[in-house]
Amino acid sequence: MTYIKEGQILQPFLVEAVREHNALPLTGRCNLSCIFCSHRHNPPDIKAFSFAPLSEGLWSDLAQYLDPGRKIIIGESATRLREGEPFTHPQIYRILERLRLLYPETAIQITTNAALINENALKILATLKPLEMVISLNSATAAGRNLLMNDFRPENALRVLSMMNNYNIPFHGSLVALPHLVGFDDLRKTIVFLDQAGALTVRLLLPGYTAFSDLAVVPPPGTSEILYSFVSEIKSELKGVLLAEPPLIENLDSVVEGVNVNSPAFSAGIMAGDIVTEINGIETLSRVGTFNTLYSSYNPVLTVKRGSDFIKVSSSKKGSESFGLIMNYDLDPDQIKRVKESLNLSASALMLLSKPALKRWEVAADKFDIKNLTFQAVDSLYFGGSINCAGLLTVRDFQQAYNNANNPLSFDNILVPAVAFDSNGQDLSGSSYLNLKTGSIPVTLVT
Ligand code: SF4
Repeated sequence: MTYIKEGQILQPFLVEAVREHNALPLTGRCNLSCIFCSHRHNPPDIKAFSFAPLSEGLWSDLAQYLDPGRKIIIGESATRLREGEPFTHPQIYRILERLRLLYPETAIQITTNAALINENALKILATLKPLEMVISLNSATAAGRNLLMNDFRPENALRVLSMMNNYNIPFHGSLVALPHLVGFDDLRKTIVFLDQAGALTVRLLLPGYTAFSDLAVVPPPGTSEILYSFVSEIKSELKGVLLAEPPLIENLDSVVEGVNVNSPAFSAGIMAGDIVTEINGIETLSRVGTFNTLYSSYNPVLTVKRGSDFIKVSSSKKGSESFGLIMNYDLDPDQIKRVKESLNLSASALMLLSKPALKRWEVAADKFDIKNLTFQAVDSLYFGGSINCAGLLTVRDFQQAYNNANNPLSFDNILVPAVAFDSNGQDLSGSSYLNLKTGSIPVTLVT
């Protein structure tokens, strides 16, 4: 990981973060040192960058190019820039106030480890709504937070969480699940703590590791399976919604995991477990499609499958207001359509894709009757370990998967996920997708 101050290397990544993700990068610095932090476990030649807190000249320039129609993201790595803890930026409150002035109506999302926030900070944040926080708590016990995050003042974050409700700041909580280090009792306490503190959702992140990770974070075999059953067991005990990530997706049905309180979905009486089958009489295609359609709909009428009954539900919702359904991420129907259309032009294609995406695409191919599409799952050789999300795959990984496919020269087109490449078509090691050796078969990025 290279550390850079301001300058030309940084500029294109900053612009890409703003333009593509509506994210405003602020600093690569973090006040903690989590044992699972993805920034610590990278191959030595990775083209990812840490960076100093942006100067006022730079952040205020970038802020002008954010899209008021989309949520503004703070504190999430969106490009090759390693995003650190936003509250370490010396001008964080000035930045947030400027954003609010520029975009009075736009929601701002801040991801934080909460170690540097106190009650005064909450008072300021409460004046900057619409705003939501994503809090990486990881453990609700002092010993757990200390062990996992090297947080030597864990009481700060725990105190802040217990005050969130007083300031009516909506928030989501997350924990990286490492039960072999902290025990299942710690996981349970953390989930219940976040739920009682009023978290809209609690995300339990299944532990991933690379060949460069500390051995301590490598969970024993079978941990993921145990965690999935743990999640389904504890879910029903909570007021809010508990999601496992990555989710287990077996179909593209629009299954509702939960409903935000005081949202149009809540007022319409939609419940966890319902399946949205139609919106305004048109069949739903996937969870992502349902989410997007509802986001842009005005007073949508839904058909919902509850048990074996189909119920018509009217709702009251403004145009670009959130409908309030919480669903897992599956596939965007527009992306499925683009792939299907590209196959009209070519007789057959081989899609190289991450392991978590494989099942979803198999289901999509079946549901949308996509012919002549063959799938090949890609292992991450570059990172090694259990890491398998598409954004971390490299040309080397795709090449290996292509070489391992049956009859790789028999296809007319090779499809690879665009998310693995930056706007110049380069992966995390700096190699272009055009370096994939597929004979004369063209390689297409799936956007
Ligand atoms: S709080 Fe986030 S950025 Fe900081 S060390 Fe932990 S995981 Fe990394």
